[in-house]
Amino acid sequence: MNPAYYKQQLLDELYRPYVKCIECPLGTLGRTHVVFGSGNPDARLMFIGEGPGQDEDIQGKPFVGRSGKLLNTIFATLGLERSHVYISNIVKCRPPQNRKPTSFEMKTCKDLLLTKQINIIRPKVICTLGSSALEGLLERPVKIGQLRGTKLVVNGIEVVPTYHPAYVLRNPAGLPELTRDIKRAFELIQNNSQ
Ligand code: SF4
Repeated sequence: MNPAYYKQQLLDELYRPYVKCIECPLGTLGRTHVVFGSGNPDARLMFIGEGPGQDEDIQGKPFVGRSGKLLNTIFATLGLERSHVYISNIVKCRPPQNRKPTSFEMKTCKDLLLTKQINIIRPKVICTLGSSALEGLLERPVKIGQLRGTKLVVNGIEVVPTYHPAYVLRNPAGLPELTRDIKRAFELIQNNSQ
């Protein structure tokens, strides 16, 4: 069976019980959609952000607002398409007023969904976008300014930490670093191809 088709079936089965999830407080704080993720279920590169924003909450898809447009622009400069990668978030429901998810919300959602998504997709490289994504993945507080550009390995998967595109929209001086980190993640999967 085609691996992408098979993995998509597994992801659909994983998501089905959680379309109205209330396992953490974010399920009852005004969320419209649970935003599970999108892209190639057999991707070698996976991006993980913090959580859905307003546009994502309305459309039910990750990174479709201004941050997503910036990501698309960077991908285009690197010759990559969204359909080549899988994109998700640490928490799948929009935090009210886009506040940072709590460590309880991140851990709950990671255990319910993200860890299982990673186990199904089995990416070679994960690129975390922003400090919350890395914090949620490592389950400890981090300073993204100190960790971006370093090499991390989590459960045998190489992790490239970088800024969140929303941060770069507010601080355009970070664009070259964000672009460089994403380029490095792409190069890693090319070197890592089986
Ligand atoms: S953020 Fe995750 S754990 Fe919390 S309600 Fe949404 S899907 Fe469930």
